[in-house]
Amino acid sequence: MALTLKSKEQIEIMRHANMIVYEVHQELKPMVVPGVTTLDLDTRAKELCREKGAEPAFLGYPASSPGVPPFPGVICSSPNDVIVHGIPDTRPLAEGEILSIDFGCRYKGFFGDSAYTHAVGEVSETAEKLLSVTAESLEEAIKQCRPGNRIGDISAAVQVCAEAAGFGIVREFVGHGIGERMHEPPHVPNFGRPAQGRVLKPGLVLAIEPMVTVGGFETKILEDGWTAVTRDGSLAAHFEHTVAITDGDPYVLSRP
Ligand code: MG
Ligand code: MG
Repeated sequence: MALTLKSKEQIEIMRHANMIVYEVHQELKPMVVPGVTTLDLDTRAKELCREKGAEPAFLGYPASSPGVPPFPGVICSSPNDVIVHGIPDTRPLAEGEILSIDFGCRYKGFFGDSAYTHAVGEVSETAEKLLSVTAESLEEAIKQCRPGNRIGDISAAVQVCAEAAGFGIVREFVGHGIGERMHEPPHVPNFGRPAQGRVLKPGLVLAIEPMVTVGGFETKILEDGWTAVTRDGSLAAHFEHTVAITDGDPYVLSRP
């Protein structure tokens, strides 16, 4: 399948979309304290998104399985053993939990997408290490986003970093191309071999999103049809940036 390469002008629109995503994350981050609910965060994200002239990308996103209603949140809010696609709800978060917030928006026809996992107050040493290793695995992946490298170089960078720390890498959910559609080819798995897969070319824009667990990599989906959790109940973290391949250095669109 042909990959969609973006012009410099299109990448600048995507930059704008992704900086809106960044600003929303910056506003939500200090709200993640004991007592807040993920629905509070969702409501604020919705307000901010509209104020900034963008449309939320996940709200109403169609499910891939029949009979499952469209995604009901503006953010995906995934606490503790929830890996991704958690639905915002009214349960207050407690000290010691971790929470992944994934947020995407559409601006002038192009999408932005980014995720962070936060500690709620003080967390265990294991949780802290999980957050720092997952964030670091994303940085290692971003370094591979250079023309002439391949998707496998990105995948292997995440896997090597997470597995060196003794953590598991989720297989079922992967990063993706992004542009005028939220999810475009190619898949960007978080495990794989260097020098394999599609060649990275200037104009390719990827959402890279390591999902790392303290235990095994097996997953299951809860009855709501969306919430993806670790099968063994272990903690999971998720970080994501949208990155453009240029003639030179990686251009991370979703942060300043
Ligand atoms: Mg995302
Ligand atoms: Mg994504």
